[in-house]
Amino acid sequence: ATEHKNCIGQTTCAYCGVGCGVDIHFEKGEPVAIEGTPSHPANYGKLCVKGNHLLETLTSEDRLITPQIDGKSVSWHLATDMIADRLIETIRSHGPDSVAFYLSGQLLTEDYYVANKFMKGYVGSANVDTNSRLCMSSAVAAYIRAFGEDIVPCSYSDLEQTDLLIIIGSNAAWTHPVLYQRIERAKQINPAMQIVLIDPRRTATVEIADKHLALKPGTDAAIYNGLLNYLANYDGLDKCFIEKHTENFDGCLAEAKQWSVNRVASFCELKVQEIESLYDLFLCSPRVISFYSMGINQSSSGTDKCQSIINAHLASGKLLRPGCGPFSITGQPNAMGGREVGGMSNMLTSHMDIENATHREQVKTFWQSPTIASKAGLKAVDMFEQMRSGQIKAVWIMATNPMVSLPNRPIITEALKACETVIVSDCVARNDTLEYANVVLPVSGWLEKDGTVTNSERVISRQRGLIGPNGEVKHDWQIICEVAKKMGFDGFDYQHVHEIFNEWTALTGYKNNGSRQLDLSAIGRLSQSEYNNLKPQQWPIKPGGDSRVFVDRQFSTSSGRAHFHPVTPRLPIQTTSEQFPIVMNSGRLRDHWHTMTRTGRSARLHAHTEHPYIEINPSMARTLDIVDGDLIRAQSSTGEVIANARVTDSVRKGQCFMPIHWSKQYASHAKVSALYQSVIDPISGQPESKHTAVRIEKM
Ligand code: SF4
Repeated sequence: ATEHKNCIGQTTCAYCGVGCGVDIHFEKGEPVAIEGTPSHPANYGKLCVKGNHLLETLTSEDRLITPQIDGKSVSWHLATDMIADRLIETIRSHGPDSVAFYLSGQLLTEDYYVANKFMKGYVGSANVDTNSRLCMSSAVAAYIRAFGEDIVPCSYSDLEQTDLLIIIGSNAAWTHPVLYQRIERAKQINPAMQIVLIDPRRTATVEIADKHLALKPGTDAAIYNGLLNYLANYDGLDKCFIEKHTENFDGCLAEAKQWSVNRVASFCELKVQEIESLYDLFLCSPRVISFYSMGINQSSSGTDKCQSIINAHLASGKLLRPGCGPFSITGQPNAMGGREVGGMSNMLTSHMDIENATHREQVKTFWQSPTIASKAGLKAVDMFEQMRSGQIKAVWIMATNPMVSLPNRPIITEALKACETVIVSDCVARNDTLEYANVVLPVSGWLEKDGTVTNSERVISRQRGLIGPNGEVKHDWQIICEVAKKMGFDGFDYQHVHEIFNEWTALTGYKNNGSRQLDLSAIGRLSQSEYNNLKPQQWPIKPGGDSRVFVDRQFSTSSGRAHFHPVTPRLPIQTTSEQFPIVMNSGRLRDHWHTMTRTGRSARLHAHTEHPYIEINPSMARTLDIVDGDLIRAQSSTGEVIANARVTDSVRKGQCFMPIHWSKQYASHAKVSALYQSVIDPISGQPESKHTAVRIEKM
């Protein structure tokens, strides 16, 4: 990379699941300017404010640059020796399931791939989970249940071809800004396009909406159950599609029949006319997209909420056509890539099923590995619980900050304290989790490392190492491979990251026979130079470039039919009480990302929102004698936060909202995750991070 003089290098943004291409301008080998890549299919030259300020985050301040053991700098040789020895000893004494990896949607696909191969094929445990569990695991579970495979059946271009866009549980204007801009332009070009926002809060996304339904938090599944009933009552079913390509419709409809418009309105605390008008729009619009994100997924009934959306699209046949479908939008830059290589504890790799003995044998044979995990491993919250109870004795955490992002901080603290070996790989020192690490590994970051990411529309793009690495840092995949070799594992002798990519794409095609949509083998075996020049690719990769999924309406289920699943709407588990009477919601800001370990390094991004805040409704403010800017405390059954009050009617009476980003590094007592109990969806294991109960008082 240092050979760059005055030139332009191309990579992708480090942040959200939109996956924008970015061009980096170099002068005398130094990156000096950034702009969107005009030809990248995700953004066509656009960037949001976070992307535009990426270069400011490259400062060497707070970078981890040497490996450390118990706070002392050591050589890589010593650090990887110690990790290999500890893992060998732990596995020998307590078995494969006594070790765990906790990964991140920030890792590149190649990092994810070797981490999974290491754990599932060589250690023989599936205790390899990821912070993507907190992000979109409910969407994954519902897609697998409905389609037999984790398939997002839409593309960004569908947003420009739809008649009705229902945005539910997403503040896209702030969380996926470039996609939001595409929707804005689509609406300008086609003013007849209708946009309905369904969200308890009046977020920035309301600007683009024709209607806003401020439903009671957590009641989303009732909206779609009622819709299915309405479609059945008003001749809105695609009976031919249902009969030829789906199963279990009658059971699903029987449950939906319980949900009249009146009952939905009452359950969701909306007006009957609001519901009817939404249902009429759905019924009469030839093309409809339901666009959803964390407001749906981060729930104790997230899988069912996603399923209720899919049910309505299956029943109406409004999917697998341009401008149609249930479109879940991922949060992180590579949550999708991680899903593809089986980066979650209940998945295998290449969309194969860990519960399927044939699939397990195929992967083991392909890897020529000594073993293969024989059952699903622990999901994130359970993984930390087993650390706390002493069953997991060694954990390797990569590119994530669970002390801030997982619910119930006291439990996570106890878990990390109880774990005998805690290895943390990260780029930066301002990470609350490092305090509990025995071994700290400095890794390369954005613009320093090579690999691929997959965005929310299944487009695989290259991230490129365009600048030299800082200090003694190494790439995540290199470190895993070094440890693997020291543990005596073969199969990790990669000289360059493109060899991992080649192995992975070949595996997706291995004994696939068209039974899974995820088949990248048509990319072929790439040379290093071909890999360096790889252009964005949307899968499935087919001759002629049409990458629509399930074109022959053969789904990946055992019957080949899409599966309806009846949904009984459930309210959130963390409910209000006399002691904790207010609902606390949480979410992202426009200018920050996750726990601020990157965006906190940009003074200009930081300046937009310097201090943590809690949005409260004016009526609540009057009752509690709080005015804008007052310091207030929110307390739940698990913890408390302190922040400034922001009085606004964008949150409903009895509700409040706090951004997720602050950690101990940037403000003490402002970690909203401390307020959440370890409540999860029983199928996906995704925590209920959008709904807890608090009391608020003025300080
Ligand atoms: Fe980066 Fe997402 Fe912004 Fe695109 S929309 S520039 S991927 S943060």
